[in-house]
Amino acid sequence: MAVRRAGAAAAPRSLLANLSRYYLECLSRESGPGISIPATAAGIDSRAITPDEAREIVPELAVDDLCGAVFNPVAGTVTPDLVVQGCARDAAQLGARVEQSCAVERILVENGRVAGVETTRGRIATDCVVLTAGVWSRELAATAGFGLPVEPERRFMHVTGEAPDFPKRLPLTVDFSSSFYFHREGEGILFGGAELDELAPVAARRLPALAELDLRHTISGFYEMSPDHNALIGAAPDPAGLVYATGFSGHGFQQGLVVGEHLAQLALGLEPTFDLSQFDAERFARGRARAELNVI
Ligand SMILES: Cc1cc2nc3c(=O)[nH]c(=O)nc-3n(C[C@H](O)[C@H](O)[C@H](O)COP(=O)(O)OP(=O)(O)OC[C@H]3O[C@@H](n4cnc5c(N)ncnc54)[C@H](O)[C@@H]3O)c2cc1C
Repeated sequence: MAVRRAGAAAAPRSLLANLSRYYLECLSRESGPGISIPATAAGIDSRAITPDEAREIVPELAVDDLCGAVFNPVAGTVTPDLVVQGCARDAAQLGARVEQSCAVERILVENGRVAGVETTRGRIATDCVVLTAGVWSRELAATAGFGLPVEPERRFMHVTGEAPDFPKRLPLTVDFSSSFYFHREGEGILFGGAELDELAPVAARRLPALAELDLRHTISGFYEMSPDHNALIGAAPDPAGLVYATGFSGHGFQQGLVVGEHLAQLALGLEPTFDLSQFDAERFARGRARAELNVI
């Protein structure tokens, strides 16, 4: 079980980048995520706490069957749209142009190299395309003759009505044994981890007070699953000029900042700061896939 405190909407970008880098470093190690590198060594304040301490942070939590928890005072709550808008604003200040509602229909290839993209607003000539189209990446990559094994998997989240008896600042709390998670969402509580039928008994056991709240609505989205549940990041060997990142398998937001920087370095032909070569899409053909088991 991991307990993390909310309230980092204004977390400095360096902290987000640190968390993102730490996560990718853990994934790159042979011993598996979170085992070989102490988080504190990476400047991240994650700590083991007792079940009673977990209950002080989340008073509604049933902790009788827990032997411990992990807590980070700042990680766990950022607002994805604010982060994306912040990055877009910074890119625009550096001269980038952001075009919305303009779908790429096809990647154009000439003589083994990217030559441009065909969009709903016409053709754009370029010798480099950065492909980050989420669950739609597979079909777009196929237009350039490149294989990206990404499959959509629908996931549900549920939002309750007002929850005045829960703390105002409730951490993102994850029960790793069942994947049940919850956090504050405005006046209500957002929870997820499985479909409602499967989730209800687990939720009632771990967070009995949830059963007293009205269910207001259910939201669904797609996880972009790769075969080993790790990201697909790299530069295609063919065609040249195609750089990609997708297949995050439901944990792409937390990797986004470092992956974005890495893509920029690949696109510009610079030496990457981090060696993420083991995330390339060819690893399956090489027999180098390694399953990520901590997907919730
Ligand atoms: C319910 C749910 C909960 C999640 N919770 C977490 C979490 O707690 N932590 C975490 O790290 N991750 C989480 N994720 C996963 C995270 O949202 C994704 O991994 C992340 O958004 C992937 O980012 P991306 O930029 O690769 O793709 P996306 O965010 O899917 O962005 C792809 C973009 O490409 C655009 N696009 C697609 N096709 C085209 C085209 N042909 N032309 C132009 N544009 C195109 C799309 O419109 C979209 O804007 C969650 C996902 C879901 C569904």
